[in-house]
Amino acid sequence: MPAFICTACGTQYPPSEAPPPQCTICEEERQYVPPTGQSWTTLPSLGARHFNSFRQHEEGVIGIGTQPNFAIGQRALLVCTPHGNVLWDCIALIDAATVTLIKGLGGLKAIGISHPHFYTTMVEWSRAFDCPVHLHAADREWIMRPDAAIKLWEGETLPLLPDVTLIRCGGHFPGGTVLHWGAGARGAGVLCSADIATVTTDRKFLTFMRSYPNFIPLSAREVEAIAAALEPFAFDVIYGHFFDRVIATGARQVLKVSVVRYLAAIRGTPGTG
Ligand SMILES: [Zn+2]
Ligand SMILES: [Zn+2]
Repeated sequence: MPAFICTACGTQYPPSEAPPPQCTICEEERQYVPPTGQSWTTLPSLGARHFNSFRQHEEGVIGIGTQPNFAIGQRALLVCTPHGNVLWDCIALIDAATVTLIKGLGGLKAIGISHPHFYTTMVEWSRAFDCPVHLHAADREWIMRPDAAIKLWEGETLPLLPDVTLIRCGGHFPGGTVLHWGAGARGAGVLCSADIATVTTDRKFLTFMRSYPNFIPLSAREVEAIAAALEPFAFDVIYGHFFDRVIATGARQVLKVSVVRYLAAIRGTPGTG
């Protein structure tokens, strides 16, 4: 039986004879059902029309995205460390070339995912590389394809490897997580923030939303909690949720001024930050 994938968000459901009646992720206010309605694909069908592309952002950080764009346009990051490789976030298409290339780099020790919009085909990835998928337990209700490889973690941080830590920031989703790699950016530190802290289109600031497609902002309290969660960590570079959303330097200061700017806007005093 095929395991159907929602073409709007990339979420894969358990194997079934017919596609699910609806996509739970798309029906919720942080995503959307396209005006053309819900449609479904499968991995073989997706792989017939798409392929993955790779961009090395820096030594040890390789972005992986699907061409032509699929679903939300998600982009995963392969973080390669001397202690093993981590796949940060996930994309729907996993094909033979991608598996061969990643295995050639040493395979995966673990998969970490920021929030449900990147769960996609995580079960397929974990089977291909025989590794666990770490998800924050606060978002468990959004797991559409449960599997023994999924490890739920609780609390505020999870050390994945020496120098690689998952940090719960909340906000966009209660379990909203980012990844910190201390040795990245030549030792200055790297933060992979997905859209938990979103790199803005001009790549000068970060912003924070409950729903991006439906423009629902976060509260001041939630954004202050994100800033507090990241305060103990050193980083100079932030990789956001798409290939081109990167804060290339001074990222800690960018976070600081972005939080001030956001709080001023949400409190009705823009320009004072
Ligand atoms: Zn969907
Ligand atoms: Zn999202």
